Amino acid sequence: MLAIRFHGRGGQGAKTASRIVGTAAFLEGFVAQDSPIYGAERRGAPVAAFTRMAKAPIRERGIIAHPDVVVVADASLMGDPAAKVLEGVDGKTILFVNSPMSAEQLSAQISARGHLTTLNLTEIALQRMGKRGAISALLGAVAGRLVGLRQESIHEAIARELAELGLAASVIEQNQDAAKYCYEAVPVVALESRARQTVPVALHIPAYESPTRGTAGITVGPNSGIRSVGGWRTFRPVLRPDLCNGCWLCFANCPEGAITIKPDGRPAIYYPHCKGCLDCVEVCPTDALTVERETEATSKT
Ligand code: SF4
Ligand code: SF4
Repeated sequence: MLAIRFHGRGGQGAKTASRIVGTAAFLEGFVAQDSPIYGAERRGAPVAAFTRMAKAPIRERGIIAHPDVVVVADASLMGDPAAKVLEGVDGKTILFVNSPMSAEQLSAQISARGHLTTLNLTEIALQRMGKRGAISALLGAVAGRLVGLRQESIHEAIARELAELGLAASVIEQNQDAAKYCYEAVPVVALESRARQTVPVALHIPAYESPTRGTAGITVGPNSGIRSVGGWRTFRPVLRPDLCNGCWLCFANCPEGAITIKPDGRPAIYYPHCKGCLDCVEVCPTDALTVERETEATSKT
């Protein structure tokens, strides 16, 4: 069995990437299984997804604790302890990171076991598809290449999975072209075989909890104003005051309350609470909000 774990931020397409690889494996005659985990979080929050593929029935379920391949959609996740990107990574794991850095440059910044490989998927998506959003097809292509799936299977799996999401044929084709490029460009690392043991796990019966324990507390630390979500950003909105007409649409549409209005009637962005959803950029009628890509390994405040 091969186990692939995807880490991304909500909206980047880690879940769809896991489905693309699962479908491609299925098309090649494997038994495949894929599932995501993202709790009740929101766009920009760390999420994970899992794909298993084997030539025999897969009896293991749930999260992948000891992955053969880890695919990281955003390098900033490496420094986020909540994302647990390196959990279970050992000397045989292949660790792929979407980054403008080479594997050698990145390995000087992070301490990780396993075989590191990188490719700048965000830049490829910008150049070939002109978009900042989901890179699921690209992540799927890279993961598929690293586990030895054929490009034709990935191509077909992208068509099936993106069609299910309701994307137009022309958009799907763009994704397929960019994915093919990534499939051919990613530096490949040979997979090392490992002996897997199936550990029998006892069935867990959850106990009843009182509603006072199960209800989210909106004022507790992790939900309150003291929680910084600046680290979730892959892109940041930047205000050009000379173009701003003071309409306040950005202020009204920011889901995080990260935009305030100054006494002169103009907006100000408080970056520790800006998660980078770019809703403000979308609604700005004068293009007074531009977009800058966050650079890797910087503190995003
Ligand atoms: S400031 Fe803009 S990018 Fe940041 S959270 Fe608000 S709407 Fe999203
Ligand atoms: S939406 Fe654009 S023009 Fe309107 S206040 Fe915000 S930055 Fe200024």
